[in-house]
Amino acid sequence: MQDNKKALKKQMSQNNLHFNKALGQNFLTDDNILDGIIGAAELDKMVNVLEIGPGAGALTTRLAHGAKKVVAVEIDTSLIPMLSDTLSRFDNVKIINNDILKIDLKKLVEDEFNGEPVRVVANLPYYITTPIIMKLLEENPGFESIIVMVQKEVADRLSAAPGGKNCGAITYSVNYYCEASRVVDVPPEAFVPAPKVWSSVIKLVLRNSAPVDCKDKNHLFELIKAAFLMRRKTFINCVSNSKTINCDKETLREILNKLNISETVRGEALSLVQFSQISDEILMRNL
Ligand code: SAM
Repeated sequence: MQDNKKALKKQMSQNNLHFNKALGQNFLTDDNILDGIIGAAELDKMVNVLEIGPGAGALTTRLAHGAKKVVAVEIDTSLIPMLSDTLSRFDNVKIINNDILKIDLKKLVEDEFNGEPVRVVANLPYYITTPIIMKLLEENPGFESIIVMVQKEVADRLSAAPGGKNCGAITYSVNYYCEASRVVDVPPEAFVPAPKVWSSVIKLVLRNSAPVDCKDKNHLFELIKAAFLMRRKTFINCVSNSKTINCDKETLREILNKLNISETVRGEALSLVQFSQISDEILMRNL
């Protein structure tokens, strides 16, 4: 690992490059963790990969060895010449210099992978982890799985069971779209520069069908978001104050009673099925 760190620092300085903190540039230098990510991706020459933030290309190189085709989206223009040079020996890698949040994923998958299934593999920039994961899930143009390094605290939330102390609104979204599992926890020393926090690699396997059958998915997610707006308040207090969910306290009480749920319940104690039932009841009453 020390050799990798030295080599990376040397490579960056030879190219007059600096680690850009604002872009979440903590590059992974631990071979075991890099191999663990590749193992979790279960690559073979039939598998296509979208990588977000290739950085100096440590993960990209391994992906190129194992996968059919790799498309790597990197926002930092200054890294592109060095990255292109590192990856020049592979004819199955394409680098796209762009912001992943601005990319039309459906178009990218059609243009670059002929609409074939794709796995996302990435050591994510931590300052935009949630928007990236939500984009991948909501736009999903046929992803089979998403294997990502995130802050450990975020991994706890993403892979929590709804109803537990670690869960938040995103727990339910992840649970709706996929099955989450933890691959490995990663100490700060595995990166250059070392971040202040521990990280974790998680694997999200996309479901073939949704686990609940709700009337309106968008309304369900708005309801969940509203329920988590104020952490220590009851579900009724949060939702009745929400601007997006049109439902007063009395109606919410009625609905919870009908569904045999306590009036003092907090959002994090509700299951996805219960959220879905409440969402349907609100929609029925708003007809
Ligand atoms: N994959 C490399 C590794 O594992 O060593 C680098 C990972 S580093 C944590 C995150 C990378 O994402 C950086 O290269 C950063 O420039 C890039 N990045 C940051 N924001 C991005 C965005 N909006 N779109 C695409 N790439 C981004």
